[in-house]
Amino acid sequence: MTTPTPPSPLADGASLGVRFPHDAVALSLTALESIRKSGAAVSVDETVRAEHSRDWWPVSIGWAAQGNVPALADVVISVTTTEQVAMVLRHCNDEGIPVTPTAGRSGVCGGSVPLHGGVALDLTGLNRILDVDETSLTLRVEAGVFGPELESHLASVGSGYTLGHWPQSFDLSTVGGWLACRGAGQYSTRYGKIEDMVRGLVVVLADGTVIETDNHGPRSAMGPNLTQLFVGAEGTLGVITEATLAIHPTAPCEQRGAWGFASFDEGLDACRRILRRGATPAVLRLYDTIESKRTFDVDTNVLIVLDEADAHIVDATMAIVNEETQGATSLESSLVDIWLAHRNDVSALTPLWNAKVVVDTIEMAAPWGSLSDLTDEILAALRSVDGTMVASVHQSHAYSDGACLYFTFAGRVSERGESYGSLDAEENYYRTCWDRVSTLLNERHVALSHHHGIGMNRGRYLPDALGASFGVLQTLKTALDPNGIMNPGKLGFGEGSPW
Ligand SMILES: Cc1cc2nc3c(=O)[nH]c(=O)nc-3n(C[C@H](O)[C@H](O)[C@H](O)COP(=O)(O)OP(=O)(O)OC[C@H]3O[C@@H](n4cnc5c(N)ncnc54)[C@H](O)[C@@H]3O)c2cc1C
Repeated sequence: MTTPTPPSPLADGASLGVRFPHDAVALSLTALESIRKSGAAVSVDETVRAEHSRDWWPVSIGWAAQGNVPALADVVISVTTTEQVAMVLRHCNDEGIPVTPTAGRSGVCGGSVPLHGGVALDLTGLNRILDVDETSLTLRVEAGVFGPELESHLASVGSGYTLGHWPQSFDLSTVGGWLACRGAGQYSTRYGKIEDMVRGLVVVLADGTVIETDNHGPRSAMGPNLTQLFVGAEGTLGVITEATLAIHPTAPCEQRGAWGFASFDEGLDACRRILRRGATPAVLRLYDTIESKRTFDVDTNVLIVLDEADAHIVDATMAIVNEETQGATSLESSLVDIWLAHRNDVSALTPLWNAKVVVDTIEMAAPWGSLSDLTDEILAALRSVDGTMVASVHQSHAYSDGACLYFTFAGRVSERGESYGSLDAEENYYRTCWDRVSTLLNERHVALSHHHGIGMNRGRYLPDALGASFGVLQTLKTALDPNGIMNPGKLGFGEGSPW
């Protein structure tokens, strides 16, 4: 299988443009030479730099169609050991050079875009699976390991294991990227998000110091949990090179079911009641009528359920699901098969952007008490933007106290060339959609993101979202990275982000 990637800005041989140019800040030749001697690969080739300077941030897919990268790294350094990471960071810290950790580059918020140039630090060479402890059910793994390698290795050990982390971008993303963004897999209602799975990390700080966080067993009471400080930090506080994660024996039993609800609200309420009773089916996804038609070709609000675990647990879980869906129409469980067959298909985005259809998704999380109203308000906000053709929603990850909703919007606006200040028509439409929804989320004091993170795209909303605690985050950032070299311009840090 070939890995789908966003369009290369160099694919058609056009000359390379840079959406957000920066002043050149090059690492000294002496530093580059000693990094090269350590065994790390150093590249200043324009094609390599362009490829490492973009991710799956949808608006940048539109730019790539015009031959533009969002920003351009001055050099790409590809490492294979923690020691090499430490050496690169030491040199960059001494010389004040920005470092942007890059891994699968499947992030959708521009997190791995080297906004201020400098070094793109390619971590995909940290690709070893170090240990599987079958008794304690833990895994030690380097940060650059991709999903398929990880799961096929686990499946081959003893009677078979799984991490249970299956993001839609499973083929495109790495352990380090999952941790850096606080990612969620599609089976998270049973297995948890990545922050629930992690037991400890090896992290390289900006000055090259290597630390190990926690990793003292399943839980500890030894002060605040420093592991969680780096989980979700999106490479702004340090580079994760290794992780210890909790794993599970491969599930011996699986059951599937599907139901149709008269309204999205009724479906949401059934999900709430299922979780409230302690049932945690691995997959519990509810689609509105637009997405149900698009995905399953049926005219209702589809709920698909899949659970996997010990047979007794699956039986009990599905018994609760059956009771709480009594008021709904029972549908063929083959709808779950349809979802499984297409769940990692990422091919639709690029052709749409190339046809000047602006398309993106906004995921958020909120308590059950406000989800129903928020669903209507967010859809209304997206539909109120001039140019919106469609806005739809599904519920993707559920908890006893709330859930993640995932909104998709698509719009077509005027021809390129029309300018809104520094933005063209598509960018202006895109930003307006994000502004309306994010402002609403901050007003309602709910999570701006459940699993995609902040990156560049949501940076301007984070200080408001966190209030005074953003100051605490800023203080930690200054203490750990006094020279501001770690992924500058992300997570709301840094003045003057051009986006
Ligand atoms: C089609 C599609 C579907 C997706 N579906 C999901 C989904 O279901 N669930 C989900 O959670 N996400 C999803 N994503 C988003 C994305 O895949 C995740 O954010 C993923 O975790 C990013 O991993 P990566 O290895 O590609 O990291 P990158 O994109 O390379 O980096 C992401 C961020 O993490 C930082 N970073 C990367 N590695 C490290 C490290 N070792 N140490 C410190 N910082 C680091 C980078 O600097 C950047 O800020 C999807 C993306 C696409 C394109």
